[in-house]
Parts: sequence; C-alpha cells; structure tokens
Amino acid sequence: MTDRSVASPASRADAERRDAADPLAPYRERFLPAGDVVAYLDGNSLGRPLRAVADRLARFCTEDWAGRLIRGWDEGWIDSPQTYGDRIARAALGAADGQTVVADSTTVLLYKLARAAVDEQLAADPRRREIVIDTDNFPTDRYIVEGIAAERGTTLRWIDADPESGVTPEQVAAVVGPQTALVLLSHVAYRSGFLADAPAITRIAHDAGALVLWDLCHSVGSVPLALDDWGVDLAVGCTYKYLNGGPGAPAFGYLAARHQGRLQQPIRGWFGHRTPFAMGPGYEPAEGIRSLISGTPPVLAMVPLDANLDLLDEAGIGAVRAKSVALTSYALELADELLVPHSVRVASPRDPSRRGGHVTVCAPGFDEVTVRLWKRGVIPDFRAPDGIRIGLAPLSTSFREVLAGVTAIAEELVRPRRP
Ligand SMILES: *Cc1c(COP(=O)(O)O)cnc(C)c1O
Repeated sequence: MTDRSVASPASRADAERRDAADPLAPYRERFLPAGDVVAYLDGNSLGRPLRAVADRLARFCTEDWAGRLIRGWDEGWIDSPQTYGDRIARAALGAADGQTVVADSTTVLLYKLARAAVDEQLAADPRRREIVIDTDNFPTDRYIVEGIAAERGTTLRWIDADPESGVTPEQVAAVVGPQTALVLLSHVAYRSGFLADAPAITRIAHDAGALVLWDLCHSVGSVPLALDDWGVDLAVGCTYKYLNGGPGAPAFGYLAARHQGRLQQPIRGWFGHRTPFAMGPGYEPAEGIRSLISGTPPVLAMVPLDANLDLLDEAGIGAVRAKSVALTSYALELADELLVPHSVRVASPRDPSRRGGHVTVCAPGFDEVTVRLWKRGVIPDFRAPDGIRIGLAPLSTSFREVLAGVTAIAEELVRPRRP
C-alpha cells in the first residue's frame, strides 16, 4: 500500500488518526483474534465471537448443563426466551418488557408472525387479503409470504424497490388501502444498506388499517430502534449478525402488547401452551408473549447473547450508531478515491440518515475479485449480480481495517486476470 498525502483519506496516517480518536476502539480487543484475517468486512452477516463467550460456553457446559442437568429447566432455562427477549428489547429495540422472545430462526418466526397477522386481519374483515412486500426484500421474506398467500388464498402486492435505495413512504402510501392485511419490509435493506423510514411507513400502514411487520436483521445492534414509540405491531430479527450470537443463533420476535391474546401464531406446540406440563388434551395458548413459542427453547444457543448484550449495554446503541456512521462514511470516501475511478458504482445511500451499517459497491467481475480477496484475508461478501458488500460491525471493526479492505479491492480490480 502506498502512503499518500496526509490529506488523503487513503493514507495510513489518516486511518490511524481515526482509530486514535474512536471512543469505541478499545472494544475491538474484547473479541477473539481472527487468525489470518486482515480485514473482516462481514460482521453484518456473521458477527465475531467475544473472548468472554468462549469462557461462558465452557462454564455453561460444566456448571449449568453438567452440574444442574434437568433441574436447569426449573432454575431459569424455561424462562430464557423471555429473559433474553427482554434484554434485547432494552438494549436494542426500544421496547418495554414482555413483548419479545428468542426462539426459532428468523424464517420460522417470520412465518409465525406474518401468518398470525394475516389470519387476524382476515377474521376481522375478509376483504383484507393483501400482503405488501417489496421485490428487493430478502429471499426468505419473499418466499414466506408467497407460501402464506398460497395457504390462505391471499394476494401479494409487490412494491418495485430500487435495489440501490429502498422502499419509500410514498411507495407504501400508493399501495395500501382497505384491502391491505399486512406490510412486511426490511428496516435496513440487505443489499444496499438503505434504511427505511420505519416510523413514517408504520403510520401510513396504520392509517390504512394494515398491520406492519419489520424485519430487523440488519438493524438490530447497529441502528437505534424505538418499536414502542413507532407503534410497530410485529418485528423479527436475527442474533448472529450485529449481536454476535454465533452461527445459527436463534432469532427474536416482537409482538406488541396490544396484540397479545388476539393474534394467534400457527405452530401450536407444547411450550406455547398455557400449562405445558399438564400435558393435557387440546391446545390453549399461553398468556402474553409466551404464546409465540412452539417447542423447547434453544437454551445453549442463547448463552453467547449474555456477553454480547452486556457489551452493547456498556457501549450504548447511540455510540454504536455514531461509529457505524463514521465507518460507512469513511468506506464511501475511500470508495470514491480508490474504486470509483475504476468504474465501480456505489450502490448505497450517500445520506447517512438513510444508511444502515454496510455499504455496497458494484462492478462486473466482483465475484472473482471476492474470491481473491478471501485468499488474502480480506473478507467482505459478494451479492449477485455484481455487488461487494462491505459490512462494518462497529464494535469489532477498526478504521485501519476499512482502509486495508478497500485498498485490497482496488488492487484486485486493476490486477491483470490470469487466462
Ligand atoms: C440474515 C437475514 C435473514 C435470515 O433468516 P434466517 O432464518 O436466520 O436464515 C432474514 N431476513 C433478513 C433481512 C436477513 O438479512
């Protein structure tokens, strides 16, 4: 890497100055070393593990699991879906206790909540048979509502989202009406990083009598949320992205208190029963948020969340967002200097208030560039057809890593291809 003038954002001195001025920089040391990785730019897809998590998992095995055995269920495991749900709600969702559980995968919770919402709306008014979703939403979200539409004989109303920006309040206002049952959107678009105006869209949907389900996978732990204040009805998100819960960590689901006891999710299992251990005939849903649970909670898979939620409480979501904006702004400055002259297109919003925690740059051949980057320890991800997604987890990413990453992309772009 050539050292440029101090004025250039692409100088090493500039990146070092940004790291030195970063109040969250010390948190990076709390994570386990990443081996041969030079720049990890995919914390928005799989967060890095904290050192404390390795100890906590080992201790859980020897003390909680081995030592307590089946007694563990009576000593807290039973309540773990709500205990962890409330902790996520307080640290990251802007939601009061009793409205969030940790369970299942995002896909399964999406299905449960979306089905519950559609069933409730159809029962109240059979004309409300449309689900609004956008064409650029995450695949699982699109597939789930296609399945629900087939099951319930409802229709889908597609918003044609610009893949380089996202769904606007005007687009939602243009399609909702007395026929709308549910609006399902991602808060931060997985491709471009576009940050939707959740309070405005929620209001517009409510004015039309629709319910709103927000997919928070790319916002939780990165963008401050205020689900209660925004009047959100339902939400889901994963815990293995910015919450660093580990591969396959369970999801969380939010069901606003005013809907509990009315909306009924379709997977009626014994753990969502009012009295699971009565083992009685017939399903009776538990009161409150527990009715969202179906089977045995993934207790072991929730263990890493403890240390991560402690970390988020300590750093504060406001400071995390401030660093996130600084990181993505820096990545865009670097992209403008090092990539755009080589015909790379920036496919993320320039306005930081409309941008989540990652930025995407596009050019033909980026699939091969990504393969070469991984070989040299620079780890972004590739999203078809031609996007490299630079994910910048604020608590584990340094400005120097951003510089190393974008510089490597520039070098691989101009490197002659072997035949
Ligand atoms: C990552 C992600 C998911 C993942 O769903 P899983 O069931 O955990 O595989 C869903 N929606 C969005 C928007 C995502 O980014």
